Amino acid sequence: MDVFSESYAEARARFRARAGALGGVLTAHENTAVRGPGGERLTTDVARFGPPGAPRLLLAIAGTHGIEGFCGSAALLAWLESGAPALPAGSAVVMVHAINPWGFAHRSRTTENNVDLNRNFVDHTGDAPANPVYAELHAALCPDTWDAAAVAAAKDAVAAFVARNGAAMLSDYLRRGQYTHPSGLNYGGRAREWSNRIMEMIVATEAAGAERVAFIDWHTGLGQRGEDFFICFNDKGTPEFAQCVRWWGAAKVDREKAFEGEDRPRYTGLVFHGTAQFLGGRPMAGAVIEFGTRTGVEMREAVRGDRWLKFACPDRTAPAARALEADIFEAFCPHDDAWRRTVVAASRRIHAEALAGLGGWG
Ligand SMILES: [Zn+2]
Repeated sequence: MDVFSESYAEARARFRARAGALGGVLTAHENTAVRGPGGERLTTDVARFGPPGAPRLLLAIAGTHGIEGFCGSAALLAWLESGAPALPAGSAVVMVHAINPWGFAHRSRTTENNVDLNRNFVDHTGDAPANPVYAELHAALCPDTWDAAAVAAAKDAVAAFVARNGAAMLSDYLRRGQYTHPSGLNYGGRAREWSNRIMEMIVATEAAGAERVAFIDWHTGLGQRGEDFFICFNDKGTPEFAQCVRWWGAAKVDREKAFEGEDRPRYTGLVFHGTAQFLGGRPMAGAVIEFGTRTGVEMREAVRGDRWLKFACPDRTAPAARALEADIFEAFCPHDDAWRRTVVAASRRIHAEALAGLGGWG
């Protein structure tokens, strides 16, 4: 069956129905400050399989980047379609559906505050991480008009920057996160997002007895088209990194370069690191796992289009705006049977490998 949904509401209903039918314990956390595009309530839904207090826990998250939740939701549902997770002794599985429900429902990568949730887990009491390069490029990257001239101007500004500093520096600074331009790209916010606080609550309740945690955060947009592209944030040389290699193989896990050969950006504020912190030093091994869709440059265009629709588009019902919206959806969750079949097969395998590996951890 097709496990991909066309709306947040549909995805949520299917996830809850299937997890509930398989005996999963369901919890819903509502973000009461916001609503979906049809006025619907927005919740992060959690399904738990296995005993409370289990010492080993697999935590799988969908929708950190809102719109990427269409794929993440499908990955969770595909796993559930093959039956309840086969739990090794002492293990539990917790699936988090739509950790950023506003972004999922409104088909945006960000939260309701234009925050990139995967840059929001920094210490907001101190100075925010600096990003002078982003500040330099912000005006060109975030035009008020979305036409050929604005696109060309941005291209020129980026090309001039690359000519002076190299492509690696551009990739690093544009992706790592910025904390100075609230209407800009990859904005990490100046306070904890609702989703950030809910994540802490989920870890506190669902991982209360966990001694070891396996972590998967599903994303799309990095990697070759259809490729399951791993970004393991455990430090190389640690026992946790070794676990990831054992579960998923060195070819997937042990890669230092980003997908087009550039160095990995120095990301700040990742959900991965926030969750590890909420666990208070208990071992957590895992990765952000992406499914590739388009090239890095094309994905940057999609992220900019998302931002333009939110802040500058004069009429979202106009045909050009609708076309841009549809194209952004294709960038993050293609309507492409071959791509979708690949996602289903790979995500099932990756979940199963993590769970089996968790059973044999230490
Ligand atoms: Zn993402």
